[in-house]
Amino acid sequence: MSRFWSPFVKDLVPYVPGEQPKVTDLVKLNTNENPYGPSPRAIEAISAAADDTLRLYPDPDGAALKAVIAEYYQVAAEQVFVGNGSDEVLAHVFHGLFARDSQHPLLFPDITYSFYPVYCGLYGIPYEAIPLAEDFQIRVADFKGINGGIIFPNPNAPTGRFLPLSEIERLLSINTETVVVVDEAYVDFGGESAIALVDKFPNLLVTQTLSKSRSLAGLRVGFAVGSAELIEGLERIKNSFNSYPLDRLALAGAVASFEDEAYFQQTRDAVIAERERLSGALVVLGFEVLPSAANFLFCRHPEFDAAALAAGLREQKVIVRHFKQARIEQFLRITVGTASQNNRLLEVLASLVSAKT
Ligand SMILES: *Cc1c(COP(=O)(O)O)cnc(C)c1O
Repeated sequence: MSRFWSPFVKDLVPYVPGEQPKVTDLVKLNTNENPYGPSPRAIEAISAAADDTLRLYPDPDGAALKAVIAEYYQVAAEQVFVGNGSDEVLAHVFHGLFARDSQHPLLFPDITYSFYPVYCGLYGIPYEAIPLAEDFQIRVADFKGINGGIIFPNPNAPTGRFLPLSEIERLLSINTETVVVVDEAYVDFGGESAIALVDKFPNLLVTQTLSKSRSLAGLRVGFAVGSAELIEGLERIKNSFNSYPLDRLALAGAVASFEDEAYFQQTRDAVIAERERLSGALVVLGFEVLPSAANFLFCRHPEFDAAALAAGLREQKVIVRHFKQARIEQFLRITVGTASQNNRLLEVLASLVSAKT
């Protein structure tokens, strides 16, 4: 707290990201990073871009990256927006496409990405959290009525549950007057992308990131696909904020990542296979595991307190995420690691759940 802060700054409730520990000997399964490295071609492209041209500003429009994304998803380049991580893309979305100072709240699930209410606080957007069903599925019928916009991740975070495209289409057919955003940070691990629907619904915006399925969390690249009119709105915000959100290295690495489809599929498939193995092994240990279409599992043990399990894991240098939030305080969110990281997690969990309390 400082007397130099405006009252607005005093009242902000910032997002708290998962821990990025300084020590390196941890099994780090807490922030849904990819356990495999990025495409070697992306690393080469980044190295090649680290030359004398760094004295020049990057392309403010990120045209080369927009072109590869447009080609990859079979949309027009005017339907693509790029930004410094999808968090920045989402910030511009909240800033420019959702209703501010309105009577009509933005709608999102009660259990979801905890950055959404933070952006609402930053940009003065009223919101209403819509309860998920008992089984943590999104009930599309509850997202209706006059609203200031709708946003949800698909697969949802931190549940990992996936909503089929037919349900998203149903939601769009009853919400045509405000912007509907599908945050597809995890879609590559098992969902169907709603990008297939953007030409049909001009109010649909789909956001994605290179942080999870493309192993480039450290590079900070995210993007959105939607109608040209939504993208133009985002460009207006971006060009009023920072002309160069993506630097030369990020643009080079991101383009090369999209050009290495074989590596992308191979590592994505490895994460999915490990997810299924880990899920089965957790069930054997007595955990209830939600079905996941993401690169993490959301699970609980009926006899052991989740916070105590997280603390016990941490003592053994395994870190997972635990949220102190109503409805989910007995759950752990575990990022799928490599086979050996997952084995270490299972080994420690086995010792914790066999030790009688
Ligand atoms: C990780 C994540 C993001 C942010 O990704 P970045 O591109 O790294 O900023 C956005 N939404 C959800 C649901 C996420 O889990």
